[in-house]
Amino acid sequence: MDGSLGSQIDMSRVLARPDCKNDDNDKSSRPHKRKRSEGDATNPGGDVEEMRRITKLDQPGKVGVEEKQSWVAKVRRLGQNIDELHIARLTMAKQIEELKKEHLNKDNTIVERDLTILSFKDKISRRDKDIFHQQGRIIQRDLKVNEYKQEILDLKERNHLLMLDNRTLNELAARVVPVPQPRKPTYVPYPNPAIRNRSDYRHRDAPRRDDRFKTGRAAPPPRDPRKCTAPGQYGSNAYWDLGLCKMHFMDRAQCPRGDVCEWSHTPLDGNERGYVYMLGERGRQFLTLSDRILYKKNLAQ
Ligand SMILES: [Zn+2]
Repeated sequence: MDGSLGSQIDMSRVLARPDCKNDDNDKSSRPHKRKRSEGDATNPGGDVEEMRRITKLDQPGKVGVEEKQSWVAKVRRLGQNIDELHIARLTMAKQIEELKKEHLNKDNTIVERDLTILSFKDKISRRDKDIFHQQGRIIQRDLKVNEYKQEILDLKERNHLLMLDNRTLNELAARVVPVPQPRKPTYVPYPNPAIRNRSDYRHRDAPRRDDRFKTGRAAPPPRDPRKCTAPGQYGSNAYWDLGLCKMHFMDRAQCPRGDVCEWSHTPLDGNERGYVYMLGERGRQFLTLSDRILYKKNLAQ
């Protein structure tokens, strides 16, 4: 801008010179020239007569040397002005080119900024969409939370009603006379006899008492087939051995060891009797035989 301003100053300085009006290249000087010619028409005896005088048309031989020199100097100055004007014109054209380039660069910068702004706007719009989507999800969650809260209230009310019903039913049940129910066996062996009668069947559902031996020993005493009833005699195997005294349960004679017998004299309880009964024909035969023997022994006492 400083260069262009300087060139403008130069141009104004050059144009301000009175000799500049005679430059044919400067269009602004033409009206002045025309005015001057008009002035010549209104004022005869001006430059035309002077020119005639200089070119010796009217008065040959009367032109002075100083006048010639002054005209030569004027022509030189005019030439110099023309050169300066030409240079100023070139400088102006160059500056215009630079200004155009600068303008183009600024346009490019503006376009880049516009593109950046557009990309930012695009990002903002996408974020706005995300925010809108998230807000929608939040609203959905709030609705679900409200539904759950309502469900909790409904369940609480239902629970309260059920508790009232339960209390009423308990009061009614307290008034009803209990009816004896048929006894169901708690301990049931495997229903398939092919599996139940195997020697490796473990009798997992059999009733078990820790005090089945009088001695209270955890490990059963060594088996003496003459003293201990083999479990096979009531349909069981070694995995459910009641440790029954053979003489007490299977013989009509009294066991001489009595209360200090190392084998069990304790009568079978209901669970054990039920389980032995379900073990099969052997179990039922054992129960019948032992009941008969024990009954007779009790009568004898
Ligand atoms: Zn005994």
